[in-house]
Amino acid sequence: MQYFINVVLPVPIEKLFTYSISAEEAAIIRPGMRVAVPFGKSKIYTAVVAELHQTPPEAYEAKDIEHILDDYPVITEIQLKFWKWIAQYYLCSVGEVFRAAVPGALLLESETLILRNEEGIVDENTLKDDEYLVFEALQHQSILRVQEISQILNKKNVLPLLDRLLQKKVIVLKEEVFEQYKPKMVRYVKLGKAHSSEEDLAELLNSLTRAPKQSQVVLALFQLQAVSKKPIKVTDLEKAANCSAASIKSLIDKEILEEYLIQTDRVVFEGEKENAGLKSLNPYQEKALEDIKISFQENKTTLLHGVTSSGKTEVYVKLIDEYIQQGKQVLYLLPEIALTTQLISRLQNYFGDKVAVFHSKYNVQERVEVWNNVLGNKPKAQIVIGARSALFLPFHELGLIIVDEEHESSFKQYDPAPRYHARDAAIVLANLHGSKILLGSATPSMESFYNVKTSKYGYARIDRRYGDVLMPDMEIVDIKEQTRKKRIKGHFSERLIEEITEALELGEQVILFQNRRGYAPITECSTCGHSPQCPNCDVSLTFHQRRKQLRCHYCSYHMALQKACLACGSATIDTKGFGTEQVEQELHGLFPNATVGRMDLDTTRGKHGYERIITSFERQEIDILVGTQMLTKGLDFRNVGLVGIMNADTLLNFPDFRAHERSFQLLTQVAGRAGRTQKRGKVIIQSYNPYHQILQQVTTSDFKGMFQEQLYEREQFKYPPINRIIKITFKHKDYNKLNEAAEWFTQSLRNVFGDNVLGPEYPPVSRIRNLYLKNAMLKIHKDYSLGRTKNSIKKIENSFNAIAQFRGVRIIYNVDHI
Ligand code: ADP
Ligand code: ZN
Ligand code: ZN
Repeated sequence: MQYFINVVLPVPIEKLFTYSISAEEAAIIRPGMRVAVPFGKSKIYTAVVAELHQTPPEAYEAKDIEHILDDYPVITEIQLKFWKWIAQYYLCSVGEVFRAAVPGALLLESETLILRNEEGIVDENTLKDDEYLVFEALQHQSILRVQEISQILNKKNVLPLLDRLLQKKVIVLKEEVFEQYKPKMVRYVKLGKAHSSEEDLAELLNSLTRAPKQSQVVLALFQLQAVSKKPIKVTDLEKAANCSAASIKSLIDKEILEEYLIQTDRVVFEGEKENAGLKSLNPYQEKALEDIKISFQENKTTLLHGVTSSGKTEVYVKLIDEYIQQGKQVLYLLPEIALTTQLISRLQNYFGDKVAVFHSKYNVQERVEVWNNVLGNKPKAQIVIGARSALFLPFHELGLIIVDEEHESSFKQYDPAPRYHARDAAIVLANLHGSKILLGSATPSMESFYNVKTSKYGYARIDRRYGDVLMPDMEIVDIKEQTRKKRIKGHFSERLIEEITEALELGEQVILFQNRRGYAPITECSTCGHSPQCPNCDVSLTFHQRRKQLRCHYCSYHMALQKACLACGSATIDTKGFGTEQVEQELHGLFPNATVGRMDLDTTRGKHGYERIITSFERQEIDILVGTQMLTKGLDFRNVGLVGIMNADTLLNFPDFRAHERSFQLLTQVAGRAGRTQKRGKVIIQSYNPYHQILQQVTTSDFKGMFQEQLYEREQFKYPPINRIIKITFKHKDYNKLNEAAEWFTQSLRNVFGDNVLGPEYPPVSRIRNLYLKNAMLKIHKDYSLGRTKNSIKKIENSFNAIAQFRGVRIIYNVDHI
């Protein structure tokens, strides 16, 4: 009898691969276990067993596997199903999902592995372009193989470059490591077996009279044991006895003490404020909770639509509590940037160390620990709070999923595949587990609210703020008029200055929002009109004043700011537009006594980047905080009296069919940071276009009006939520080749789908990192079979791939593109 397994390899190939196994191996192997398998000429990959069977493959001779890596399945059956769904829906391979789903440390390979150096502090400015690419790739994927780096850089010999990166302490190498993940062990001590009873103590101390140091250690150990029943760490004993490691070691050698090791989790919960009583809900929250439960009984995905500061989080907490009481696991999903210590410690206050955090900024070891705790259904990971990748954890008893800030576009993975939407994938995951799912937002997405309107989703609403705090008072300031009347200083209208002054006098804090980082997005010579562009991308370089640099926000390119125009030599360089850095600088001039902080991508790098700024704002060490949309996410500051929006127009005029919906969400969310306690908050929105309907809808909290109007437009132009869209991006470094390829593909689509095909068109930034881009878009009615659509697309792709002149043109599918 012959035995075979089909495995998922972490590579972008459509099919599962078949390997042959012995009868003994067949008795051990189960689906979900990892095996090391040879692939290609000389490579070894970690693969996951999907199925066992006895049918040899037809097209090739099945190879033997190298190793069985697990004693039991580390990937559950549901996970395998979930991966398949994602691959199928989002048009990618299961292998790509596998790679994204599993922490790098579980994906070992025989080749050299490149890891980012967690110890090194990297100054991006010192990196050359190709070095930066590797550095950046390692931010997304914690482990890369040499060969992958070759692919990223499109270059055969990358070893010299890796050598440089090693010297710059950007990376570390791992070679031939099959168990690279090592749990962290902590050393504990107890009395040796011969001395464990109290009566022995006197005798023991007697025997140590000539070793006062050692008897001191023994006494200290007894004291520690008297205070707490917990195991005693060697390091704690050292401290308590004020002794050296050597004295403890000699006692261990004499077998007076015994040493033992316990695996500890790196992601330790600090502070033991466990289980602060749950808050009792107010009647509006109670009603919402009841509605949610009724809707859950019908097994419906449910939307909790509660205005900012209505106490949604407390409603989640009640629900979570019910599910963990039943021994179920709970997944709490948040957009990456809303995943703050604020929320985490709020949950930890209620649920103590049942809360585990799964975060891309955590290192491989930390993520593997959460993975294993979830797999083992351990109490310490009963509640997992995480960003989108937490969906891939190996849950067993998943009872409830909460998707907070469900409207957030960052739930959609952009690059690389799988380009999934975490909210939508979460709904599928909940179905697979038979668990409940709650979406929450103050500004629901068009998609979710449409699903409520069509009764697909259940609905619960809280339309007032907790504690009857009023919604903030919003005022729109017409900058055009203010400029004409010369009532503007820099980018601050008189009204905004007045309100900031007043807030500061009252000891309140101020948040200012400008959705652009840097000093100015464009510099231009006023003599000849020359404006420095990125050599690799079709975009103007952004001026960063503090670093005195011009930087590209799409690639790593940067140059020193020139004193004279590079084209004509005049010293007449002007800036256009403004970013957070400029707002910050103007504030120093306008309010010299105020402390100003800035929160944007430039100030929040590193693991604790956000936390530093948020904490210092919380502690009121900062009076005025300037920031990009990072500011908008679920932060709960007590003392913010004023929120200022520096310029609403860049949001409103963004060339995308979702721009208006987005603006409504963003502005409402930022405004929601004002006045979260007794006093009514104030919001000032500066705009050149004060009568814009979205601004009117924001200031009157008219969500329904916004929804109706946008829905009408989406219907007219066949956009979501009524239609599905698939965006197809073509990429190549040769402009003409790209054009021909995109034209051919789009025309073929048009032959099948007629005028439901748009494009191909250049996106606003039509070249990034020296690759030209062109997009086509396919709109399909919700009721039309997605499977059939995809088959047609795949057929076209197959013909496309057979055309020699298009070789090398990359095609990227983005289903439900956002
Ligand atoms: P949301 O998530 O809707 O923006 P939060 O849950 O952050 O609102 O609540 C806003 C504020 O009101 C928080 O400071 C929270 O602690 C407080 N709060 C909400 N509900 C209650 C309650 N039932 N009892 C006491 N305080 C509450
Ligand atoms: Zn010039
Ligand atoms: Zn660039």
